[in-house]
Amino acid sequence: MLTKLNELLENHYDEMVEIRRYLHQFPELSFKEFHTATYIADFYKNLDIPVQTNVGGNGVVAKIVGALPGKTVALRADFDALPIQDEKETEYKSKVPGVMHACGHDGHTATLLVLAKCLNELKNELEGTVVLIHQHAEEYAPGGAIAMIQDGCLDGVDVIFGTHLWAGSPLGKIQYRVGPVMAAADRFSIKIQGSGGHGAQPHKTKDAIVTGAQLVLNLQQIVSRRVNPIDPAVISVGTFVAENAFNVIADSARIEGTVRTFNDEVRDQIEAEIDTVVSATCALNGSSYEYNFDRGYPAVVNHKEETDYLVEVATNVADVDNVEETEPHMGGEDYAYYLRHVKGTFFFTGAKPEGVEIAYPHHHPKFDINEKALLVAAKTLGAATVLYK
Ligand code: MN
Repeated sequence: MLTKLNELLENHYDEMVEIRRYLHQFPELSFKEFHTATYIADFYKNLDIPVQTNVGGNGVVAKIVGALPGKTVALRADFDALPIQDEKETEYKSKVPGVMHACGHDGHTATLLVLAKCLNELKNELEGTVVLIHQHAEEYAPGGAIAMIQDGCLDGVDVIFGTHLWAGSPLGKIQYRVGPVMAAADRFSIKIQGSGGHGAQPHKTKDAIVTGAQLVLNLQQIVSRRVNPIDPAVISVGTFVAENAFNVIADSARIEGTVRTFNDEVRDQIEAEIDTVVSATCALNGSSYEYNFDRGYPAVVNHKEETDYLVEVATNVADVDNVEETEPHMGGEDYAYYLRHVKGTFFFTGAKPEGVEIAYPHHHPKFDINEKALLVAAKTLGAATVLYK
C-alpha cells in the first residue's frame, strides 16, 4: 500500500506544483478565502469525495472512508494568505496587489489535495478513515481552527497530523519536537492616565512619561524575578506613545507589547503579574490606567507517543534524509487547538529554495519555497496516515 501510494504521489508531483502555483497567484486574506474554499471543494467534488463546506466559516472538510476497518486519521492544511505585496520575480507571483502566500499555506493545500486524491485511488486497500481538514484563517486571531472544531471537524477523529513547510530548513529534513513546539502569542495594551501640565511645574502634574518609563522597566522584572527560570517566557514592549511639545508634561501614554510562553500556568501568571506591576507603578505616581491582555493562540504542544510515531515513520521515508529535533519556535499557530482535543503532532518539512545560502524568512515579500518539499510532506503525511494502527 505504502509503495503504491508513494508511486502515485510521484506521478502526481507535477499536479501538486500546478495547484500550488495556481493558489500562489490568487491568494486571499484570512476570513476572506471564498474563492480558495470553492476551489478546494470543487477538487473533491470532481473526484466524488464527500466534502463539507462552510465548516466554522470558510473551512472545508473532506472524508475518505477506506474499505477496511481502522482508525480515523485527520490531516490539516491551512489555506489563507497575508497582507504583503509579492516582490518575487517569478511567473507564478501573486496577481493580487498587496496579498501574498508568504507562509507556504498554498503548498500545504496542494500537498493535502494531491495526497487525498492518491489515497482515494487506493481506498479499496485503505484501513480506516482519513479526514482532510482544510482550515481557513490561520494567520489572524481568533483563527479558523476553533470554529472548525466547534463545527465538528474532529468528531470521531483518533489522531491528527499536520506539517508546516519551513523555508529555513533544507529539503529532505523533517523537524519534530515532543511537548511545546510553538509559543502562545498574546498581546497586551496599557493606557496610563496621568495629568499633564507645564514642563516647568512638574509638581502640579502626574507625568505619564515618567510613569510609563518606570512601567517599562518594572515589566522586565516579571520574567527575570517572578517566572520560574525553567519556563521560557518573553515580554516585549513594542509601542510606547506619549507625544507632546518639548516643554509640556504628558497627560497620557500608551504602551503595547507581546507575551510569548509555552506553559498555560506561566501564561496565566504573566497576565496577572502585568496587572500587579501596572497597578503598583501607577499608584506610586497617582495615575490611573486601563490594562487589556488579549489572548492569541495557545502553545502548540505535541503529544509524545504520536510524535515518536511520526519520527519512526519519517525516518523510513525515502525522500527524508534527516529527522531532527527542533528547538521550540516563538511564533504562534492555531494548530494548537486541535492538539487540545485529540492526540497528534505538528512537524516541520524543510523547504529551503534551491541555490540560496539563506532563504527569505516566512512573511517576507520575497518569500518562496522549494516545491520538491511538497512531495516530501505528502509522503511523510501519507505514511503517517496509512501506517497508523
Ligand atoms: Mn504559517
